[in-house]
Amino acid sequence: MSDSVDAVDSVREQAVVGAVPTGVFIGGGWRDATGGARLVVEDPSTGRPLAEVADATPDDGLAALDAAAAAQASWASTPPRVRGEVLRRTYELLTARVEDLALLMTLEMGKPVAESRAEVAYAAEFFRWFAEEAVRIDGRYTVNPNGGARLLVMRQPVGPCLLITPWNFPMAMGTRKLGPAIAAGCTMVCKPAELTPLSMLALAEILAEAGLPPGVLNVVTTSRAGDVTRPLLADRRLRKLSFTGSTAVGRQLIGLAADNVLRVSMELGGNAPFLVFEDADLEAAVEGAVIAKMRNVGEACTAANRFHVHESVADEFATRLAGRLGAMTVGRGTQEGVQVGPLVDGRQRAKVAELVDDATARGATALLGGRPLDGPGYFYAPTVLTDVPAGARMLREEVFGPVAPIVPFATEDEAVAAANDTEYGLVAYVYTTGLERALRVVERLETGMVGLNQGLVSNPAAPFGGVKHSGFGREGGREGIDEYLATKYVAVKLA
Ligand code: NAP
Repeated sequence: MSDSVDAVDSVREQAVVGAVPTGVFIGGGWRDATGGARLVVEDPSTGRPLAEVADATPDDGLAALDAAAAAQASWASTPPRVRGEVLRRTYELLTARVEDLALLMTLEMGKPVAESRAEVAYAAEFFRWFAEEAVRIDGRYTVNPNGGARLLVMRQPVGPCLLITPWNFPMAMGTRKLGPAIAAGCTMVCKPAELTPLSMLALAEILAEAGLPPGVLNVVTTSRAGDVTRPLLADRRLRKLSFTGSTAVGRQLIGLAADNVLRVSMELGGNAPFLVFEDADLEAAVEGAVIAKMRNVGEACTAANRFHVHESVADEFATRLAGRLGAMTVGRGTQEGVQVGPLVDGRQRAKVAELVDDATARGATALLGGRPLDGPGYFYAPTVLTDVPAGARMLREEVFGPVAPIVPFATEDEAVAAANDTEYGLVAYVYTTGLERALRVVERLETGMVGLNQGLVSNPAAPFGGVKHSGFGREGGREGIDEYLATKYVAVKLA
């Protein structure tokens, strides 16, 4: 790892960061936060300040909702094709500008630039998908079973939405919500994470360039998430909350949304089990494990959190996985070839270290890594732990870092029971070559998604989401737009 940033790179980085608007985006215009406060965005690979953006107040949040409410009727009556074309144009612009956007994302979040490019492409794909869905919002017309009346069912935009997004996928977690909301005809107030506001601000500017009318999207960046969003959640003009983040915060927000009887979508935390059966293709399982564990430096809700491996292949799997993770290049994500960037901040790194220390204190062995890395930035060594005892916290809590605990199992029933022994239910991964076993296990897993012989499930064409404390609602796929539509039934008298 190196602390030095080449002078040429540094000029380009400054240009990319300097081009991003740093105000709040309300009613189609950029302005300072009321009172002029700013918040500092850090580069997690150096710990140094990267930029300052507006630190919005509750008044700014309400101004954003004013703008969204004012734009709602005209956006809802804008032809679906026109709404779709804004999304399609934005998809084209994001695709054309992937290099700058990827660099920006790496600078504020830390992930390797190759992964940021993949995230920009993934984020853009939601817009292409929902551009196509905008013109397919349909209803139905049926004859009353007794004859006479006709039943007309139509689907209409829910209305102004509050969209709250996390720092781990600074753009894609936004476009999964913005895409269907825009397609459905909803207006929005979006609050990105304090740690990574720049990608969303850049996206807002591109949407405006692509023709999104003023007020349809409003963005408030703030260090006071609760203070700014609480008045919005209590406001009768707001109709929906869509939240991606931790289960702890999601639970609080569900309570606040209940008071105002808001429509709610919740994409919350995960604790994904990765099951490897004795009949698995072990090399494919290791390959899938590297992706499921190391994508986004392990900071993904879909990250494999614990590896349950049949006892006959557990040692071999652990050795091979340690070999692969140990060979990965750790460094500043802006450098080509780097495969593991820093964690997002000191707090996140301290939490990962705490969970690893807890496991080793209870008897786990570090086959690889097991410690933070020295030097600037928030780096943590890729880690493989064996002999992880059942009581280790990391088997129950989200690790959100490059740490793979391996736990052997003896029978299929034991594997499924261990997989389901969690409050979470977002995703599970299963490696087996047996068709009957695959179907048996997949049906018994208590999750919203399963990767079957595959370490990656995210796909804009598929319904992403969880069960249990991982939340409810789906993003992407044909289901994604349903979250932003309300059903109206009309009873039609026909003599
Ligand atoms: P977080 O702390 O829950 O924050 C998520 C968002 O909520 C941020 O914008 C945050 O703002 C805001 N927030 C925090 N407290 C709030 C409050 N009291 N009222 C209103 N908003 C509030 O989660 P995170 O650490 O950013 O993200 C990691 C978590 O997200 C993990 O648990 C991960 O599994 C989950 N996640 C889930 C999915 C999924 O699809 N299921 C996808 C990605 C991530 P600040 O940044 O200002 O705190």
